Amino acid sequence: MFSAIARFLFILFLAFVAANIALKNWGAMVSVSVGIGVVAIPLVYSYINLARLRKFTINDSLEEMPLPSGYWEEVFFRLQRLVRNLKLKIRTIEKQHERFILAFQASPNGIVMLDDLDQIEWCNSIAEQFFGLNFKRDAMQRINFLIRRPEFVQYLSRRQFKDPLLIELMGPASNLSLLLQIFPFADNRRLLMVQDVTDLRKTDAMRRDFVANVSHEMRTPITVMIGFLETMQSLDLNATQRDQYFEMMMSQARRMKCLVEDLLTLANLESNTQPAPMNLLQLPTVMALIKNDAQALSQGRHALNFNLLSPCNLLGDEREIVSAFSNLVSNAIRYTPDIGVITVTWAVNEQGQGEFSVDDTGPGISSEHLPRLTERFYRIDRSRSRDTGGTGLGLAIVKHIANRHQAQLLIESTPGKGSKFMLRFPAERIKIF
Ligand code: ADP
Repeated sequence: MFSAIARFLFILFLAFVAANIALKNWGAMVSVSVGIGVVAIPLVYSYINLARLRKFTINDSLEEMPLPSGYWEEVFFRLQRLVRNLKLKIRTIEKQHERFILAFQASPNGIVMLDDLDQIEWCNSIAEQFFGLNFKRDAMQRINFLIRRPEFVQYLSRRQFKDPLLIELMGPASNLSLLLQIFPFADNRRLLMVQDVTDLRKTDAMRRDFVANVSHEMRTPITVMIGFLETMQSLDLNATQRDQYFEMMMSQARRMKCLVEDLLTLANLESNTQPAPMNLLQLPTVMALIKNDAQALSQGRHALNFNLLSPCNLLGDEREIVSAFSNLVSNAIRYTPDIGVITVTWAVNEQGQGEFSVDDTGPGISSEHLPRLTERFYRIDRSRSRDTGGTGLGLAIVKHIANRHQAQLLIESTPGKGSKFMLRFPAERIKIF
């Protein structure tokens, strides 16, 4: 536009000059030429600067443009400052935006931002994993076309987001329990938050199982005792029969007592998250104590070997250590048939770790049971465990005690040949004489 006007003026000027030459009107020609020159020079100068400005704006390099002199210098300077400030602001906003994205990505929860039509505006990678989404592919797709679970589609369409929604997803490797909740925000948009509650649900199920197990374990001896009492009430028993019944009731009462004691021990261990104290425990004394108890329990039915290979002190909680060792030894005695061999050994290995091991020639345990043996109330043979006075809590207690002493519980077993249970204590808890 500007160059068209300049061209038009230039042509007008040439026409004027030609007309004056033809008319030989030299005086008018000179004065008008000077007048035009005075107006044209600044115009040409402005035109040149505008052309430069145009070129630098096209290349987006306004800030690199050298400043002209005069009036245009100020204009260019202000323009450059404006562009620089705007770019700075944009960069700050971009950085802030990036930080928000990173924060949302770092969240352990799935986050999906939905627009007013429930189309995905953005989602983090956790949400992608939960629902098999791919943001690049699924951006601006309606969420109910991608998460097709009927309960979710209903939740979304009901528009009642006060309560969360729990959905169970069946995965190829494991199942997922997800808690979803939608939070409306600006301009009719919605934020879908997804929390993985699989572990929480498992813990909840374990707690329920535990209560059911305890109730079951308690109910059995109580029912048996009530049966005996009713019999004693209704039948006229002689002294020998009464003694027999009393003895049987006593055995049930002892069973309940053992169960309650083990439950209390377990509860105490679970509530105590601190490491065990570093009290000095003399291994020879502990081994002698364990040996006495073992002999009393076995009553000569087994061959018992006790080997104290490295006499030393152990740093820990005496009551807990004795309880863990006794549990392992009593299991070996209870599960090994008569004339079996039980070998109890204490040794310090080459790394300075203390190892308490109990070997038996009992029935052994097949490998599928091994990882679950320390679960509360897990038994391979329920009736065998009960018949021998087991509560199903022994190894759970041993495991907790081991944890409190930073020790490992290692189990090796071959069905039909026997088992080896070992507690390995860290070198820091061993004091050689
Ligand atoms: P329980 O009171 O039933 O013995 P534990 O927690 O001590 O409970 O042991 C869990 C289960 O591990 C037992 O029921 C038993 O089936 C198995 N078990 C433990 N020790 C041995 C062992 N030495 N030989 C064979 N099985 C064992």
